[in-house]
Amino acid sequence: MCWNCSSCDAECPVEIATNRLRPQRIVRFANIGLFEELIASPEIWYCLTCRRCNRVCPNLVKPETLICYARSAAVRCGVVSYHAARAYYDLFRRFQRVRWHAVHHCLHDADEPISDARWYSWLDTPIPDAMDGISSQRLFNSNEPFRQAAKGADLSRCFTCGECSSACPVAGERSVFDPRFIFRMAHFGLAEELLMSPSIWLCVQCGRCTEACPQRVDGCGMIASLRELAVREGRVEEGFVRRVRDAQKQVYTRLLDEIDELLGLNVGFGNQASCPLTLAECA
Ligand code: SF4
Ligand code: SF4
Ligand code: SF4
Repeated sequence: MCWNCSSCDAECPVEIATNRLRPQRIVRFANIGLFEELIASPEIWYCLTCRRCNRVCPNLVKPETLICYARSAAVRCGVVSYHAARAYYDLFRRFQRVRWHAVHHCLHDADEPISDARWYSWLDTPIPDAMDGISSQRLFNSNEPFRQAAKGADLSRCFTCGECSSACPVAGERSVFDPRFIFRMAHFGLAEELLMSPSIWLCVQCGRCTEACPQRVDGCGMIASLRELAVREGRVEEGFVRRVRDAQKQVYTRLLDEIDELLGLNVGFGNQASCPLTLAECA
């Protein structure tokens, strides 16, 4: 069904940050049967599985579903070892720490490039838990725009089932980013803590939490509102959003380089060693 409109490429946060992940190309390779090349490509491991490409496709093609299938086939066929795949998921979890630290850095007006030393130190530095030390007197102290945003997202309906956190491609360590946690904090009116938190800038606005919520809480919309409020109320400095965008480009590019090194796959379709299995055997 793909007609090469590139809507998925334009929507992909990794492609936007790095120009190195094109879901459209992955779909075309699968479409014309270059399956062995596809499962040996590092590109399938660059994906965040955010499903923004699935949502935007006018023909209901699902590039993310294909990517997940290609990854499991790569492991099944031995193109990527099980241990390498586990190391990859561990890297991805720790990468969210890097993103958190990068935003924290930008919040304090720092503009310098992210060095190797800083990258590795951030990968290994856990984030302190934001809920430590919040007294009950701080609850329900938010202003009217904040309350309206929470009401608009129907946060009071949340029964903390955690489906949003399970669906979220960014959630890993709670202190770094956990949608359920953020939505509960917002429901309790913890405006100060949320509007100054780097976590709200880690969301990739994919909408998976909203889709997954059985209570129809609009989590994706709530996080967008928190960001808007942070800017509108001057909680972040002028230039902060640009700095975050630039920092994200740096850290995503760095992540892809780490993935290349970790998995040892040749960069670029068509350069890879062939999988010994045929498509029929693999399927
Ligand atoms: S799932 Fe997200 S990161 Fe992956 S290809 Fe699609 S838009 Fe890009
Ligand atoms: S999925 Fe909905 S109801 Fe469940 S924890 Fe998340 S916001 Fe609350
Ligand atoms: S929109 Fe929801 S699921 Fe997507 S990254 Fe943000 S919190 Fe996670």
